[in-house]
Formats: sequence, structure tokens, C-alpha cells
Amino acid sequence: MIEFFKNISLKDYNTFGVDVKAKQFISVDSYEDIVILVNDSPKKIKDALIIGECSNMLFTKNMNSPIIKYTYDEIHIFEKIRSKLILRVGAGCIWDDLVEYCVSKSFYGLENLSGIPGTVGASAVQNIGAYGDEAGNHISAVEVLNIETGDEETLFNEDLAFGYRDSIFKHEYKDKYIILAVHFNLSARAKYNLDYGNLKEEVEKVGLSLKNVRQTILNIRNSKLPDPKELGSAGSFFKNPIVSEDELKRLLAIDSNIVHFSHGDKGMYKIASGYLIDKAGLKGYRKGDAGVHEKQALVIVNYGKASGKELFELSKYVQKVVFDKYQINIEPEVLIY
Ligand SMILES: Cc1cc2nc3c(=O)[nH]c(=O)nc-3n(C[C@H](O)[C@H](O)[C@H](O)COP(=O)(O)OP(=O)(O)OC[C@H]3O[C@@H](n4cnc5c(N)ncnc54)[C@H](O)[C@@H]3O)c2cc1C
Repeated sequence: MIEFFKNISLKDYNTFGVDVKAKQFISVDSYEDIVILVNDSPKKIKDALIIGECSNMLFTKNMNSPIIKYTYDEIHIFEKIRSKLILRVGAGCIWDDLVEYCVSKSFYGLENLSGIPGTVGASAVQNIGAYGDEAGNHISAVEVLNIETGDEETLFNEDLAFGYRDSIFKHEYKDKYIILAVHFNLSARAKYNLDYGNLKEEVEKVGLSLKNVRQTILNIRNSKLPDPKELGSAGSFFKNPIVSEDELKRLLAIDSNIVHFSHGDKGMYKIASGYLIDKAGLKGYRKGDAGVHEKQALVIVNYGKASGKELFELSKYVQKVVFDKYQINIEPEVLIY
């Protein structure tokens, strides 16, 4: 079904709970209908923004370009050879519903990504990651709809340039495709990835099983991150900067305790932005209803009625204070509109 709405509030459609209006909002719930929409009404979708759950977006103004929400969410086994399988999942499927489904079927692979808000389509755009894993490690292919030609195409993992919270959909293919469905490589044989932090120890306390890995991760996440239903946020607002060894040395000369991790195998390091924000004195900082979360400095929160502009201004302030102290730019992970 395709439904058209005019001048609706996006407050309930974004996890920051920002109250802006969409001039046109188009809701599409099936694969066939999105193909029809793009082919039959190219004018109606010109310059459209495709949204999932808007859990990584900050709206700073009313949206004049059309917003398309595509909710096709079927999950099925596309291929199974012995213990290896490929799941094909509609892009509108809620990410954590997929992880829960996999765990209930004893399909191994996605459990470290338990509890991440948003949709399966966006997981490929963002290359979502947590607890030592990323969606791109499991995505084998993405079915897309070319907005300009109306053609359905399949893109394979090697075409997607997955990087840290990054993919080709943020660059060369930005605004070019609607993601229709995503294919995931999974294993029906037990295979765990517990090397991150003290995850292994935490899981072993309750006993090693797929369900326990998921539950342990959900428990850790719930203790650290605000629930967007209670406190508006988009999770981590900033990316962790990736720096060279020389840059790391410069930073450690300013503060020898800076939290950092080796990143990749090319002598690069990931710096914890949350630490920098905390040490810059901004954890718990609040201006009106816009604030830096009191437990997790990487998260900007809406205590109630902050506008998108106020939240954006706060993020700029955080960037400036961190730069003044450490001479390093922390870039937003959140997409700003
Ligand atoms: C409390 C909280 C915790 C979080 N924790 C994590 C975490 O641990 N790890 C992590 O990586 N992220 C995390 N995030 C960020 C967020 O969950 C992810 O970025 C998620 O993938 C966003 O999904 P979404 O459906 O809300 O996408 P949206 O925010 O709606 O969109 C994100 C991007 O994807 C594009 N897009 C969405 N669907 C489609 C489609 N079908 N076709 C083409 N383009 C599309 C949009 O245009 C946009 O560019 C967190 C967010 C919150 C609120």
C-alpha cells in the first residue's frame, strides 16, 4: 500500500523527538509498491529523503523535500548450504527484531549487534557496529532500486565500501538508491565473537549460549545508553576520530590517559570521543532542554522540548570545547538535516 500525507509532524518518527514538519510524507509497505511509486511518480519522489526509524538523524528545520518511509519487513531463508545460510530481509524490518529472530532460530552472526535501534536498510548505509562487530561483516548483498532509472539492482559486499560507520551509500550512491532488502551471511553452527572488552567474562558468568550473549549485550547497553522512548537521543552523536601514531603521541602528551584503541592493521588508532568530551568538562552539561548525557558524554539528549537547532548548536559547542582543549575535530556520526 502507498499512502500520501501532507504537513505532518515528524516528532513521533525521530528518536530525538524533535518537532518539525514534513511537507509530504509517503508511506510504502511492500516491495512491489515502492517499485511502482518510483516508476510511476518520479516527480513526487524527486529529492526524497528515505527514512527508517530516524534514530541517526537530527532535523533542524521543516522538511520541504518528500520523506519516504518504506516498511517492507519480511525475513526468509534465501539459501542454505549445510551450516551456512543467507537470510534475505526487507529493508523496513526493525534491526533488533531481526537479531531476536536469528537468536530464536539459533542462527549465529548478528548477536553482538543486539539492541541497536533502527532498520535493516539503514544498517547497510551506516554499517552499524558494536561490541567488536559490524553489519558489513555479515552483509553479502543489498537489493536496491535505482531512483533515477527505476531499475532493480543487486550490489555485492565488495561493491559497498564498508568502513567505520561508513559505506558507499553515504558517498557515491547517496540519494541514488532505495535499499529494498539486505542479504546476511549467517551460520547455523555455534560461532562466537567475544573478544571485545570483558564481554567473554560477562557471558561466562551466565553460561555461554547464543541467548546469553544477546541478553548480556542488552543488559550492558541498557545500563549505559538512554532509552529513546524515555529520553530523546540518536545514540552516539560523534564518531571516534581515527588518528595516526604521531597524532596519538601529540594527544597523549596533552593527556596521557586518553582512551584509545588500535584500529585496523595500519598503525592507526581510534580515540574515544566520549573521554575527550568528559575531560573537556561537558558530561552532564545542559543548555535549556539540550544536554550532554550525564552518564555517557558521547550522547546528546533532548530533555523535552529542545528544537533541532538547539541540539545542533549544542553539538557545535561540544566540538569547539573539545577542539580548544585537544586541537582535534570530533565529527558527528548523526546525519544533520
Ligand atoms: C539509543 C541509541 C543507540 C544507538 N546505538 C548504536 C550502536 O551501538 N551502533 C551503531 O552503529 N549505531 C547506533 N545508533 C545509531 C542508529 O541506531 C543507527 O545508525 C541505525 O542504523 C539508524 O537506523 P534508522 O532506521 O533509524 O535510520 P535513519 O536514521 O532513518 O537513516 C539513516 C540513514 O540511512 C538512510 N536510509 C534508511 N533507510 C534506507 C533505505 N531503505 N534505503 C536507502 N537509505 C536508507 C537514510 O536516508 C539515512 O541516510 C544508536 C541510536 C540510538 C538512538
